[in-house]
Amino acid sequence: MELTVIGHWGGFPKVGEASTGYLLEHEGFKLLIDCGSAVLSQLQYYVKPTELHAVILSHYHPDHVADIGVLQHALLIGKYTEGFSGNLPIYGHQEDQAGFAALTYKNVTTGISYKGDESIHIGPFQIEFIKTLHPVPCYAMRLTAGGRTLVYTADTAYFSDLVAFAREADLLLCESNYYKDMKKSAVNHMTSDQAGQLAKAANIKNLVLTHLPHFGDHEQLVSEAKEEYAGEITLALSGLKITI
Ligand SMILES: [Zn+2]
Repeated sequence: MELTVIGHWGGFPKVGEASTGYLLEHEGFKLLIDCGSAVLSQLQYYVKPTELHAVILSHYHPDHVADIGVLQHALLIGKYTEGFSGNLPIYGHQEDQAGFAALTYKNVTTGISYKGDESIHIGPFQIEFIKTLHPVPCYAMRLTAGGRTLVYTADTAYFSDLVAFAREADLLLCESNYYKDMKKSAVNHMTSDQAGQLAKAANIKNLVLTHLPHFGDHEQLVSEAKEEYAGEITLALSGLKITI
């Protein structure tokens, strides 16, 4: 599997970059995981919107879904400019009816629901879910293909069930929206040291910190996670590519 970070900012995109979006590819299949603000612009450095095979969304906060509407516009326009004839499946949960309804648009995208307690297949990926601790229903994902596993926490406060869910993952794409000393703020998101604790407890192989804050020095996030976890730690960066 190859992962490309399309956007890694929490809340809103920094100038010229994007909030949450990741492109996951395996055997030619292109899956976009979350589609936040400015993702559509950044995505085009790597693939055309019409080349996507599927999209999956963790939840319906704007920094994860803001660009679904413009993705739909791109596909609609692609019908005329590129002869695009597909109908892109967009997977999301149905616990937000309005959010889910917006995934189906004309004949260019179709919303497909997943349930948190079911495993699904999208192209070559097997995907399992766990509901996270967040103000709106949100699902972390465990994606497996070719014998490798990526676990994406999506947005969440730390909770102990994440350890079993992430166990032995080849790559843990873990949100780290706060610094270690911000536990009081971290009711809906994780801190850097919690990301490190999760990585250690789950015995994962590589940790990528993402959903990064718009303040402080991100290298501090790494050093705080390192106090807990001795493995490799990488900061998410626009355009970062990792072979899993
Ligand atoms: Zn959120």
